[in-house]
Amino acid sequence: MMTTDPTHLAAKIREIPDFPKPGVVFKDITPLMQDPQAFREVIDRVVEHFKGARIDQVLGIESRGFIFGAAIAYALGAGFVPVRKAGKLPAPTHSCEYALEYGTDVLEIHCDAVRPGERVLIIDDVLATGGTAAAVLELVRKLEGEVAGFSFLIELSFLSGRDKLQGHETYSVLRY
Ligand code: AMP
Repeated sequence: MMTTDPTHLAAKIREIPDFPKPGVVFKDITPLMQDPQAFREVIDRVVEHFKGARIDQVLGIESRGFIFGAAIAYALGAGFVPVRKAGKLPAPTHSCEYALEYGTDVLEIHCDAVRPGERVLIIDDVLATGGTAAAVLELVRKLEGEVAGFSFLIELSFLSGRDKLQGHETYSVLRY
């Protein structure tokens, strides 16, 4: 049964201090995925939110975005598109470089992954500074897709990542 208050799901997220580096509190979602009811509830909440949004493709961001994205795509009756780190996709790609705390990283998408005008939903586990999600927004623009929304299991509100996604529906199951 899905209640309106999702805070019981927060109990399934393990916090690992100083991982992968000092000062970061890593949100480990593996206990939540391991719990059959909790995993289903997260998927159901996102699907409920976007079921009327005519989603054509769900874009999952490597790698935890694949786990939720594929299940959400199945439930919405949409396709699934992987957005991957540089050099992993075999066919021609578009790429987008984005800033990390130290240095930069690159995300790629197949050039034919989204057709012009297709409506896409972008999925990741955590929204932190929003740099990763904004890079995917840029990739979808290159393909002339229409961003119908973003969804995250966890939003770290104090990092204001949502500000980088202004003008787009952004739904987070849990906010800190
Ligand atoms: P950002 O680009 O800053 O929004 O960071 C988002 C990406 O980094 C996502 O793919 C997350 O999986 C990962 N990430 C950032 N901060 C955390 C955190 N505190 N715990 C777990 N994953 C994180």
